[in-house]
Amino acid sequence: MTPRVRRAKRSRVTVSVSPDSALVLFSGGQDSTVCLAWALARFAHVETVGFAYGQRHAVELAVRPRVRERLVALAPDWDARLGADHVIAIDALSAISDTALTREVAIEVAETGLPTTFVPGRNLIFLGFAGALAYRRGARHLVAGMCETDYSGYPDCRDDAVKAMQLALNLGMDRRFVVHTPLMWIDKAATFALAEELGGAALVDLVLEETHSCYLGDRTRRHPWGYGCGECPACKLRSEGWTRYCSRRNETEGPTR
Ligand SMILES: [Zn+2]
Repeated sequence: MTPRVRRAKRSRVTVSVSPDSALVLFSGGQDSTVCLAWALARFAHVETVGFAYGQRHAVELAVRPRVRERLVALAPDWDARLGADHVIAIDALSAISDTALTREVAIEVAETGLPTTFVPGRNLIFLGFAGALAYRRGARHLVAGMCETDYSGYPDCRDDAVKAMQLALNLGMDRRFVVHTPLMWIDKAATFALAEELGGAALVDLVLEETHSCYLGDRTRRHPWGYGCGECPACKLRSEGWTRYCSRRNETEGPTR
């Protein structure tokens, strides 16, 4: 049973705020939205970058402004810290890869053991562009939602791949970038819990209502965990995470009436 999300109190994490700037890889999905909140709680100036690469679920790009707008409405200090949004078109990605994320190919598990939604090296390419943008914008910190705990098995979501990119960016651009992946070692249920920790029930509601994860771009069906087809790998991860989050809350708080 779905517990009622507490509306009475917001429990925002108190952390010391770094004077540095951060650039968040922000797709408009659940993970990157929680990462954006995480960055707003920690850095004095935060900008966002999204990538248009011909994805079938381009609806996730469309929800980005609304998510940013609602996020800063949660706290005046977040509003003061959120800076520019950048959208970079990487058309070449769909031209060079044949995947279900950019073409009308069935979403299923391929012989490689990876879903056909895998775009080889996509996150490496994103981090490369984000590094170049961060260089120009004077941001030292890159924040990204990669996770290898509860994921579809994409190799470029793994910690080693991200750490290798951090090293490559620093060597190749002669900078000391720090790539933060706050979700790397937590599952989807804990990502919902982190949203609650950062912005209370209001942030959990925002994640459910405004963010988009479904690979098919379906926003016609509203489930307890948000919008989506309910069948694709992204929907399954999100719905299973929501169910576990709710049952963990029930365990700690007892059944809701
Ligand atoms: Zn879906």
